[in-house]
Amino acid sequence: MNKLDHVVGEEKSVDRLYHFIDGARSEGKNERYGYVYNPSTGEETAVCPYATAEEVDVAVEAAEQAFKRWKSTPVAKRVEILFEFKSLLVKATEELAVMIGQENGKTITDAKGEISRAIEAVDFAMNAPHLLKGEHSSDVGGDINAFSIKQPLGVVTCIAPFNFPVMVPVAMSTMALACGNSVILKPSERVPNSALFISELWKKAGLPAGVWSVVNGDKEAVDALITHPNVMAVSFVGSTKVAEAIYEKASRHHKRVAAFGGGKNHMIIMPDADIDFAVTSFIGAAYGAASQRCMALSVAMPVGEKTAKVFVEKLKRRVEELKVGSYDDEEADFGPVITQQAKDQVLKSIEGSLREGAKLCVDGRDPDVGRTTNGYYLGATLLDRVTPDMEIYREEVFGPARIVVHVNSLDEAINLVNEHEYGNGVTIFTQSGPAARKFTEEIEVGMVGVNVPIPIPVGYHNFGGWKRSKFGESHMFGPDTVRFFTKIKTVSERWPESKGNNDVAFDFPSNR
Ligand code: NAD
Repeated sequence: MNKLDHVVGEEKSVDRLYHFIDGARSEGKNERYGYVYNPSTGEETAVCPYATAEEVDVAVEAAEQAFKRWKSTPVAKRVEILFEFKSLLVKATEELAVMIGQENGKTITDAKGEISRAIEAVDFAMNAPHLLKGEHSSDVGGDINAFSIKQPLGVVTCIAPFNFPVMVPVAMSTMALACGNSVILKPSERVPNSALFISELWKKAGLPAGVWSVVNGDKEAVDALITHPNVMAVSFVGSTKVAEAIYEKASRHHKRVAAFGGGKNHMIIMPDADIDFAVTSFIGAAYGAASQRCMALSVAMPVGEKTAKVFVEKLKRRVEELKVGSYDDEEADFGPVITQQAKDQVLKSIEGSLREGAKLCVDGRDPDVGRTTNGYYLGATLLDRVTPDMEIYREEVFGPARIVVHVNSLDEAINLVNEHEYGNGVTIFTQSGPAARKFTEEIEVGMVGVNVPIPIPVGYHNFGGWKRSKFGESHMFGPDTVRFFTKIKTVSERWPESKGNNDVAFDFPSNR
């Protein structure tokens, strides 16, 4: 009997999870494991094995074998499997949304929204036959044709965060598969059920064994993957601290790396903005998913004291009405945060800001969820008069505590955003074309909105922040993923009709 048999033997109510390797469930050695919780109740729901380096080796070996056949499967055939996967994902939406809610805590409607964005990424990956076409030049000189081929890299790994249990893994990996790579996903240890569910869909869709694997675990599994000699590329999404460490380590091991980190996303409200529209837009984008989105608005930055006064008064009234509740509470605007530790961290940030002089406008620290529960609930909190030197302004706060920073001009707002270490998303609310143009030109942020609260690009545009929100030169979603998951080979080809000229040429060839 291994350790997990023992744990599950004692606690019959929890599910026992597994890895998904070579097209099948794999129990693993279970030398290490962790619990999965339902954040709405605080209950343990499953026990999950954490892979060791040897178990990662097994997954990589299976993925390599599968790659040999997958890379030469015609791209149109690969895309047929994607098409089937999409149809299964659409059909499974209700069931999968409940699973996301149970392990992540977000509301069912929000979970459905994330699944629809995942489907968008699959849709875009279905363009692979077109996107994989190379370039061709006829007769570049001496009867030579030159052309380029985009070839898959081999085994690639995707390491995902907890906050989008379906959208991020699917968005990271589907184009990689369409390009002919084998993928090993390491989901967040907080939300492994959704990743295992997706694995079953890929299997049903006809993806050959080994082309898609899920290895569960923590740092040990990640380190084994990103240093493995036969893993060619690392796509990471998570917190900035870990993204930076992974970028450095994987690069040292000669991997191609794209590592997406955290954010601190500002909304600039100009004096000419429609304030009611700005308030409504801020509410959803700031507090949705309990603010656990890398593109969540964290900072409202009204320009001028008059704008600030009206904006904060209206915002305060709306924030007071927000309701936190269980993932399946239809009245809830958002659910709990992911863990007790995450809740404590947000409380610490709020309390720190109060000591530093912030003004508490709406206090959500002890919310009423209508029943006794051990869930990790935090109500919507709003802090006014935050200044740029305060810790709560400098750090990403991954929970429903949002802040207002007053500025006197658009230039001051732009400078503050540009000086911030993060550069994921930003938005301006205004009715002035020139102000919007100046803003979009001068702002040092990767994803910019004008009267759009969460400027997440649609699946066929590139997604990615600047500064310490992204390490490595690639994007998620969009055309850039094709570049990331392929290598370009350039061929110069000649088919001489006669034996040709046998004179040796020592000069560097020139066509001029
Ligand atoms: P996290 O960094 O704690 O974990 C992300 C992944 O890294 C998980 O799979 C985890 O197991 C692994 N990991 C954690 N610590 C590690 C370590 N020391 N070494 C190796 N691997 C490690 O992030 P999270 O809490 O799951 O997710 C929330 C964070 O992700 C937020 O900061 C959020 O802004 C960010 N995020 C960014 C984007 C983006 O596109 N930029 C999207 C979603 C989430």
